[in-house]
Amino acid sequence: MNHDDLNHWSKRAADWASDYHSHLRDRPVRAPLTPGAIARQLPAQPPEAGEPMETIFADFAAIVPDGMTHWQHPRFFAYFPANASPASMLAEQLANAMAAQGMLWQTSPAVTEIEQVMIQWLRQALGLPEGFTGTIHDSATTTTLSAILTMREQATAFASNISGLHASPRLRFYASAQTHSSVDKAIRVAGIGQDNLIKIETDAQFSMRPEALNSAIAADLAAGFVPAGVILCAGGTSIGAFDRIGDCIAVANRFGLPVHVDAAWAGSAMICPEYRGLWAGIEGADSIVFNPHKWLGVQFDCAVQFLRDPTPQVKTLGLRPSYLETAGREEIVNFNEWTVPLGRRFRALKLWFTLRAYGLEGLRARIRNHVAWAEEACADLAAIAGVQITSQPSLSLFSFALETQAKTEALLARINDDGRIYLTQTLHEGRYVIRVQVGQFDCTRTDVQMIAKVVAELMT
Ligand code: PLP
Repeated sequence: MNHDDLNHWSKRAADWASDYHSHLRDRPVRAPLTPGAIARQLPAQPPEAGEPMETIFADFAAIVPDGMTHWQHPRFFAYFPANASPASMLAEQLANAMAAQGMLWQTSPAVTEIEQVMIQWLRQALGLPEGFTGTIHDSATTTTLSAILTMREQATAFASNISGLHASPRLRFYASAQTHSSVDKAIRVAGIGQDNLIKIETDAQFSMRPEALNSAIAADLAAGFVPAGVILCAGGTSIGAFDRIGDCIAVANRFGLPVHVDAAWAGSAMICPEYRGLWAGIEGADSIVFNPHKWLGVQFDCAVQFLRDPTPQVKTLGLRPSYLETAGREEIVNFNEWTVPLGRRFRALKLWFTLRAYGLEGLRARIRNHVAWAEEACADLAAIAGVQITSQPSLSLFSFALETQAKTEALLARINDDGRIYLTQTLHEGRYVIRVQVGQFDCTRTDVQMIAKVVAELMT
């Protein structure tokens, strides 16, 4: 296959994509397959000779779509969305065509400079003050890892990267149980150890209690530990909990501790000024992560980190061997020094396309609709005999359950086997509950109304 063939097949792929998207509503949202069903259809050995693209494409069309869970299905209400607006898909096609690796400014100045401008556009869109800068990572997980590594280095006067953690005092980090497991993973990967991530008590709203944070830090100091940082939750994965960001940051400040805020999902909603009260005090954070790839319509993967001051993170993650030097250009930013991986994709392009194609007003309208429709869906479900709402909507996320876990699990299995909608579960206060999040880019009110319709039908 050469570039002339690519031209032909790109057009075929575009036609296929258009047909796929126009018929998505007819497909079951979750792949109705048993494990191994797809792998069995592929030969066990790779081909020795090249095959015609006609055959490869035919196999793709025959095997792959039926093996997919359709994340762009308008009735995908599971997990959090991984939205891909048509404009961001187009940007990805163009980024793929150039296939650049933007590790350094000079390896593609447009990759770095459009990223810098997009960070500033997003900062303004989310109502963050001037002074925050930032970068794009692949995921919230590696963003949080970067933030935790940085806090670890700050707590050890930048010694642990060099001498290892065995020479350091025992560090402590603080978060509530509502934070995503990516925080636990980062703590493990950073060599801090799970036992040193202290889960701070929450209040009736499942927000971290600032006075409990204060006591935990004071107790650790008294016991000879070294508090190193606080991770706050703005829109937790289970039920959308928000810590009281400003109050908790005030506690952290009292002890001179840096704060990272995980707003991976809910950050997108902050383009709507009326939701910003949920993260009041955010301007005091040192690091904030939010994923435009979740709710903003910017195709996976795209995790944005805002930094009050990038210096400690660059000091932690940046290495400049001679083969990565750019002679005579001290003023440039090389974003690989801000992140864990060296190589980086051109992710800013899809942000640029999405923000321009829909405008902030277009994106706000979608998010406001999702929140309003989630509230309606919650009320519709509450009206069904036997359904108990277990958490009220936080933005567009709520949960419900039936009387017993067995009944709830059986209902969830029936819902997802049915295929018209897709929901997933979580544990809330020790109870198995079904999560509902509304956020797919193309979903309509009718799609959301289907949730209560399907549940009512499948209750028995
Ligand atoms: N933080 C929160 C609140 C999340 O909901 C998720 C994933 O859903 C993550 C972090 C991890 O995101 P990523 O898949 O980008 O690592």
